[in-house]
Amino acid sequence: MMLNMETLGSVSTLQSRRIILFPLPFQGHINPMLQLANILHTRGFKITIIHAEYNSPNPSNYPHLTFKPIKDHLSKVAHEYPTNRDGTYFVRYLNKSCVDTFTDCLAGLLAEPGEERVACVITDACFYVTQAVADDMKLPRIVLRTSSLGCNLAYEALPFYSKTGSFYLTKQDRFEESVPEYPLLKFKDIAKITINPQGMGDLATNMLNQMKASSGIIWNTFKELEESDLETLSRDIPVPSFTLGPFHKYFPASSSSLIEQDRTILSWLDKQPPKSVVYASFGSVAQINESEFQEVAHGLANIGLPFLWVVRPGMVVGSEWLESLPENFLERMGDRGRIVKWSPQQEVLAHPATGCFWTHNGWNSTLESICEGVPMICSPCLADQPINARYVSDVWKIGVLLEDGFERVGIKMAIKRVMMDKEGEEMRERVSSLKEKVNLSLAEGGSSCRSLNNLVDYISSF
Ligand code: UDP
Repeated sequence: MMLNMETLGSVSTLQSRRIILFPLPFQGHINPMLQLANILHTRGFKITIIHAEYNSPNPSNYPHLTFKPIKDHLSKVAHEYPTNRDGTYFVRYLNKSCVDTFTDCLAGLLAEPGEERVACVITDACFYVTQAVADDMKLPRIVLRTSSLGCNLAYEALPFYSKTGSFYLTKQDRFEESVPEYPLLKFKDIAKITINPQGMGDLATNMLNQMKASSGIIWNTFKELEESDLETLSRDIPVPSFTLGPFHKYFPASSSSLIEQDRTILSWLDKQPPKSVVYASFGSVAQINESEFQEVAHGLANIGLPFLWVVRPGMVVGSEWLESLPENFLERMGDRGRIVKWSPQQEVLAHPATGCFWTHNGWNSTLESICEGVPMICSPCLADQPINARYVSDVWKIGVLLEDGFERVGIKMAIKRVMMDKEGEEMRERVSSLKEKVNLSLAEGGSSCRSLNNLVDYISSF
């Protein structure tokens, strides 16, 4: 189900106020922010997007929105990007390098004569410095948090800063044990969530503090998926919360894609039997090494099912693209397997031939899979991914986590469990029931629909 304009709101709800949005310049953050921009535009708001030059969205895809690029100075550190796996480094850098240019741009917009009054700014939660800027300008700041509620609770609970934070990373003999502060997670998950406890501590503390200081938080999730976490979070962060997701059900992510999506694979999918294809993709940031890459290839080859594998250029450390595939891999696979650089993921997941999604569990990918009722195989790499993967495998029970990482025997077994075993059928039933709940929440009177109405009323009240 893709929502139509009627579901989003009628002409009578049209507003003539401006909202200024500021996304973090990474694919998994740009997609939901631009989807939110479209949602709010459809409800009558004028939208201006201040954005970093790095990973700039393509304004010609959005003639109805106004774009204001600002200098981000990221080129000074961009050369570190392929080797520095500490994602917090770039986010912390951007907070420093964009604060002045963001402030100047915002001040300029507020001073523009004849424009609609600015109701508020909506910035990515990771841009925590923007709270002070908005406060100085006496402008309400609403936060867009692009991860799950569960991720936020885990970030609040985990002592990244303390000795235990670093301890997690060194005590490999305890990697299989649960973490006392957040028992859903294991010590080995923490090692992936952060490779730099101090940096993660800085980022999480600043982000959470400035979320608490904000005028409200928009979550790309739906109430029925994370109901108990929503209650806990509302106590921990007592500012208005709006759970109006999943955003991509209002507007797909294709127009904000930074890489061209290879649509030729849709006709290949049309030729595959229903629910037969393993779709493997690890998002826009995660990297794997050469030997992990080869294990993925062997895993896909050994199961004997059709597969569609997204290998993003640069995903394999030290390779441009497919150089480290096992010898004659493509010839041996023939028409059974397809490898592309980037896919129209939402359409692939919605395709009747897709049987499971082998994912890194970025939050957008996780939601997109749930929305299409597709069970998952989880290979989280970094940041919030290990938390999302635990929810998928241990809480919602709609996927299998590859506990031993990329290793061909484990991969084969996981694919078999999801695609061929009774256990997999049960996962498919559970994820299908979540899919129904998504659709109900987005329909008239559903929780996400009501939350969107509340958000529109709230912004209109500023
Ligand atoms: N995506 C896509 N084509 C691909 C792989 C991913 O369009 O081949 C999109 C996907 O639909 C999602 C986004 O890229 O909206 C990735 O976001 P996510 O949060 O899952 O992961 P991240 O890239 O931030 O790690």
